[in-house]
Amino acid sequence: MSQRKFFVTTALPYANGTFHIGHIMEYIQADTWVRAQRMQGHAVNFVGADDAHGAPIMIAAEKAGKTPQQFVADIAAGRKQYLDGFHIAFDNWSNTDSPENHALSQQIYLDLKAAGFIESRTIEQFFDPEKNMFLPDRFIKGECPRCHAKDQYGDNCEVCSSVYAPTDLINPYSALSGAKPVLKSSEHFFFKLSDPRCVAFLTEWTQDGVHVQPEVANKIKEWFGVRTNPDGTTSEGLGDWDISRDAPYFGIEIPDAPGKYFYVWLDAPVGYLASLKNLLNRRGEDYDAYMADPALEQYHFIGKDIITFHTLFWPAMLKFSGRKTPTKICVHGFLTVNNGEKMSKSRGTGLDPLKYLSLQMNPEWLRYYLGAKLNGKNEDIDFNPEDFMARVNADLIGKYVNIASRAAGFIAKRFGGKLGTVSEDGQALLAQLRGQSDAIVQAYESRDTARVVREIMQLCDRVNEYVDANKPWDLAKQDGMDARLQDVCTTCIESFRLLTIYLKPILPAVAEQVEGFLSVAPLQFADAQSLLGAGHAIGLYKHLMQRVDVQQLDALFEAPAPVVEKATPGGEEIAETIGIDDFAKIDLRIAKIVECKAVEGSTKLLQLTLDVGEGRTRNVFSGIASHYKPEDLVGKHTVVVANLAPRKMKFGVSEGMVLAASHADEKAQPGIYVLEPVAGAQPGMRIH
Ligand SMILES: [Zn+2]
Repeated sequence: MSQRKFFVTTALPYANGTFHIGHIMEYIQADTWVRAQRMQGHAVNFVGADDAHGAPIMIAAEKAGKTPQQFVADIAAGRKQYLDGFHIAFDNWSNTDSPENHALSQQIYLDLKAAGFIESRTIEQFFDPEKNMFLPDRFIKGECPRCHAKDQYGDNCEVCSSVYAPTDLINPYSALSGAKPVLKSSEHFFFKLSDPRCVAFLTEWTQDGVHVQPEVANKIKEWFGVRTNPDGTTSEGLGDWDISRDAPYFGIEIPDAPGKYFYVWLDAPVGYLASLKNLLNRRGEDYDAYMADPALEQYHFIGKDIITFHTLFWPAMLKFSGRKTPTKICVHGFLTVNNGEKMSKSRGTGLDPLKYLSLQMNPEWLRYYLGAKLNGKNEDIDFNPEDFMARVNADLIGKYVNIASRAAGFIAKRFGGKLGTVSEDGQALLAQLRGQSDAIVQAYESRDTARVVREIMQLCDRVNEYVDANKPWDLAKQDGMDARLQDVCTTCIESFRLLTIYLKPILPAVAEQVEGFLSVAPLQFADAQSLLGAGHAIGLYKHLMQRVDVQQLDALFEAPAPVVEKATPGGEEIAETIGIDDFAKIDLRIAKIVECKAVEGSTKLLQLTLDVGEGRTRNVFSGIASHYKPEDLVGKHTVVVANLAPRKMKFGVSEGMVLAASHADEKAQPGIYVLEPVAGAQPGMRIH
């Protein structure tokens, strides 16, 4: 198959808060899809960015006493721990206030204007008489004019997904002051979605069965029907789109229109292109040439709450500014927890992703569980803790991981780690596994990972039936059955490799461990057509995954303890939360202090000679001379940061750091306390 070329994005998170589980679900879905494409040898650029603009961020930044830019930068700094924590591998992460986005948004606007799709009109707009400003859509609330749901935002209804003008709301009120807003006139710019060229294009584009899922196409069809105008009359078809906002506004200035800014939803999707351009620029690649390739496929992964922006405004903006339109808009539903409150872009509660990581819950449990639930349709899915535990423990570990653990020991102990030949029954099993390759790749392509997981678990059942029928543990006890034992265990290992190939987009870290264990290069889908073969030497099997502990799940959903007062333990605040991966980077070992002496010319330092179980000693300087005499420490055990880069100091090279406790305010509470393990710990033991 020839190599395909993809540009893939996820919806841009609004930079006024941390990620919630809804974001993580979308990123895992897209990341899995991207990995599956790459495993077929296709080329993918996978980008994200923060959606930085708009009145809500301007208002939140003001409250926090920061500039909007600083506010967004602080939010962005917290993104990496989530993405790394769940193995979500974007090629680039930018934000919509970037120079690339300013330039691209303005150019797209100018191109649309030149093509006759921009119109200016004086409109009446809601103004908060107490706050003395035009009210952004998100700060006007009221009753939905279509379905009459209460407390809906001014731009679209979260219940029926209608899009309307704030002035369409019934009984509107200002969310900033609670005041009843008054109408005031102002000049606004509109994108003429009602233009017959636009309507014709969008009718075809959304209904041709190519660009959106069928259930999404049906939803869109409703928007081409009857709508309510501000004055209460009704019209047919698409309404024009108000794309400007008045100062004060944090956004991109409209060319030749002082005091006017693009509405955040105009420049947010342009941020996809801007992040890509930023990535290509950094790599020294040509953005225009890249986008001009007709073979390039452009995929956007989004939630169902932002369908209108991505299936009407965005393709129309691209089309009529003379740009490439998206190949597919991949819409997913919401994630609920325990059938509870939905999690949308604006409201997020429930399963806290960072808490999940801090409880040392394996990120691939969640990747697997979500993968097993997502079927590529625009449907809501539910996170159910019991179901989660059952699928991970019984299916993923009980059926898949155990295949390797049942066979690897015999191969290592009895056959020097070498695989043998596979006889006919084993070949038949492997052929059955290989036969599902196309179906699994196809299911990945259509984002039906629920089917992927179903198919793989059925294949795991076949392999486990084979193991149960051949009982390697019995063969191992019988004389003269060595060849058969090696044959059966080899079949298991070959099967396990095939299953790992199939699961790799969902479980990238497990797959990497398996690649190490099998001593193979990074697995691709094409590798499913070959075998390791007799004589291939595998490495030592290490357990791949722990089971979910019910206590972890209880802790995950436990309400946080109420904060009584802000204590500062040891004189300083607890540092920013990190994931377990961050901690794992620090290699702490037990060290024995075999020698300790004063450092001539220094009143602060002691020079320690440490045994860290390496068959040599290390030299470490420690600033503890004011509190310890050398003879106090000789013979004691302590804790050393063993993988700290060696540091050249005035008195020599220090090869590590000894851990010691002290109060933040040394003057108020003097004292340095070197850590010492409970008796029994041996030099070299790692601290987990
Ligand atoms: Zn509604």
